[in-house]
Amino acid sequence: MSVVRPDAEGLRRAVEVLRADSVVAFPTETVYGLGANAFSEKAVSEIYRLKNRPAWNPLIVHVANVEAARALAETWPGAADELAAQFWPGPLTLVVPRARHLAGVGASNDTIAIRIPAHEVALRLLEASGLPLAAPSANRSEGISPTTAEHVLRSLPDVPLVLDGGPASWGIESTVLDLTAETPRLLRPGALPLRTIREVVGSISLPDEGPVDGAVRPSPGMSRRHYAPRATLLLVKDLDQTGLSGPVGVLAYEGAGVEGAEILSSDPREYAADLYAALHRLDDAGVATILALEPPQTEDWLAVRDRLGRAAAK
Ligand code: AMP
Ligand code: MG
Repeated sequence: MSVVRPDAEGLRRAVEVLRADSVVAFPTETVYGLGANAFSEKAVSEIYRLKNRPAWNPLIVHVANVEAARALAETWPGAADELAAQFWPGPLTLVVPRARHLAGVGASNDTIAIRIPAHEVALRLLEASGLPLAAPSANRSEGISPTTAEHVLRSLPDVPLVLDGGPASWGIESTVLDLTAETPRLLRPGALPLRTIREVVGSISLPDEGPVDGAVRPSPGMSRRHYAPRATLLLVKDLDQTGLSGPVGVLAYEGAGVEGAEILSSDPREYAADLYAALHRLDDAGVATILALEPPQTEDWLAVRDRLGRAAAK
């Protein structure tokens, strides 16, 4: 494996690897992605193998422009036009009906998930390769997503090439919105806040028809273990816990009256940007348990609470 700067030579090597049906890790504004030619069955299966990702979990396809996105879709809903105009390039993934002539990207449904990433290196790679790139986060399945090239190296030492574009600015995955029904449906809360998306499409239905205040309701997809550190993560309302064995790390936020440990911002966007790096640091410190203070039950914290909830799932 080699980590290279995303200069002309680095990009040339990356394109060569992608054209040879192999995979390249590259920076996006959300997290680092493990990219492969979305049209190559061989390349896509390499993503699943390296990540140990279950075959039922489909991949997001990254493209350089809206025309390339439309070419992957059977129909292009009006809402997709408006959302793309407003938020692409950016951390919003749209699920639309898949063009009939295309095979599924790792799963056998009739839809496809697409986005244009807002990262110069990702866009240059998409343009230089001329390929749509299927790219999940560049980590072993269920583990913590990588926000630096170093995180990728540690989780997936067998990746042939990593483009190092520095730390990811959003630090949390894209928001995934399903546009195949009458009302847009949230499939995964993420970087782009719902409030911002509603300004464009009006109402959004939440998973499990959860309440609009954003309190996440358990549903099979959302309680599944994911984004998890090696340490056992306990999501708690109160940090005074007894009966824990081994070293304990604390993850809290400013203004919560806690000192020491990992104190992240009390602003949900900034908290999200630091969350995965903080979990990596706590794992590196060798703690057996991470006590994570529950963030407020408001919609602004939806994506963070989703990730913490899944990191805590057994
Ligand atoms: P990841 O690649 O781990 O960031 O996750 C991709 C997310 O997009 C997962 O939540 C997938 O279930 C979702 N996704 C990808 N493709 C589709 C699709 N065709 N239909 C519904 N959800 C999708
Ligand atoms: Mg992932």
